Amino acid sequence: MSRLLFLSLLGAWTFPFVPAQANADPTTQPAFWEKCVDALSPWESKIKSEQLSTLISPPFVLVGDADRGVLQANLDGTIRSSSRALGAMYFKQQPTEPIVIFLFQTGDRYQRLSKDWFHVDDPPHYGYCRSDGVMVMNISTGGGTLVHELVHALIKYDFPAAPTWFNEGLASLYEQSSLQPGKITGLKNWRLPALKQAITEQQLRALTELVADKDFYDKQLAGLNYAQARYLLMYLQEKKLLVKFYADFRDSAPQDASGIETLKKIIAPQTLEEFEKDWREWVEGL
Ligand SMILES: [Zn+2]
Repeated sequence: MSRLLFLSLLGAWTFPFVPAQANADPTTQPAFWEKCVDALSPWESKIKSEQLSTLISPPFVLVGDADRGVLQANLDGTIRSSSRALGAMYFKQQPTEPIVIFLFQTGDRYQRLSKDWFHVDDPPHYGYCRSDGVMVMNISTGGGTLVHELVHALIKYDFPAAPTWFNEGLASLYEQSSLQPGKITGLKNWRLPALKQAITEQQLRALTELVADKDFYDKQLAGLNYAQARYLLMYLQEKKLLVKFYADFRDSAPQDASGIETLKKIIAPQTLEEFEKDWREWVEGL
């Protein structure tokens, strides 16, 4: 397919990302549109072979097996609205590169193309965000995971040093969430029962151990790690401390890589022990 024809199949310019700082937002620049077009070009023949639809709305580039109306609905209903809220609450730095998002309507195609195109033989059920920022989503499972992976894709520009526990905790918090203009709120979800059970059975390790552990994805512990990190951040959200914790942690990460010292400052005059006791009781009451 010629580049011109390919260009003609792409979406019209739509207002991008966070309007609050439009002047400083690189995604509003015409050159970003070209970057988005360029980000699609390596996939051109593959997109054609699978007869996929595409939609550009900087910084996002959507590719999917539904028609463009469905892509637009995902863009408007989930991607752009969540990104705006996350940007308003947390992010000072906007993406400087396109975020390519593959949305597959069927689990079969998601599995097959994960293997053939992305060399992922056993992809996570819901989707994943590659280190280069390309998101591959099994959208048949709903929009929650889309927001989860979106957090990963966006946070890398604003808080590249975010440790895994915090990155996954924040992403997991918003996989079940509600949206108001400029605000996203994490809600209870399916990760709660296992966390409650671990607390009741006195099997849950201390927060200090969670944040110091370099192997967040350890097979034995990963499920509980996600839950512990998620509900810690949800508790900070309830206490209206999460936005401040994010900003302080990001800005002090060179001195406090795990975030534990920032957490201690945020919860003062409570000690970490008192805070954790309260947190556990709060989780058990959810
Ligand atoms: Zn994740």
